[in-house]
Amino acid sequence: MAEFTGGCACQAIRYVCTGTPKVSVLCHCRDCQHASGSACIAAVIVDSTTLRFTTGEPQYYATQTDEGHTKRQGFCPECGSPLVVRITESSRIVAITVGSFDDPSWFRPTADMWVSKAQPWDYLDPTREQHPTAYQRR
Ligand SMILES: [Zn+2]
Ligand SMILES: [Zn+2]
Repeated sequence: MAEFTGGCACQAIRYVCTGTPKVSVLCHCRDCQHASGSACIAAVIVDSTTLRFTTGEPQYYATQTDEGHTKRQGFCPECGSPLVVRITESSRIVAITVGSFDDPSWFRPTADMWVSKAQPWDYLDPTREQHPTAYQRR
């Protein structure tokens, strides 16, 4: 995927990403459950320099992770759609929510993260890598 576009539900925020996903994950952490109102968030992690907002900017909600990092969840202040997640201490990468893509169909998750927080009714495909907490490169 050389370039892809996306945005929030109300189109107040639009972006272009020219990066190739480094990681394609389903995150089952409680923050993602709250942000999505569901079991998990599907996201791709890309080099932060490859993401450019072309219309609007997300608003950020900061939380502390168990490891003491500050996690910033970017969402549209108009419609509430979750768009990006940034970890301040490693701002060279950004996670983009797959639901915000204009075409989410090409996404192929290869790993589940924060599996320790996954809900018992959430189905996890056993053929994918499972990470108990944060994603660790194997
Ligand atoms: Zn919006
Ligand atoms: Zn998460």
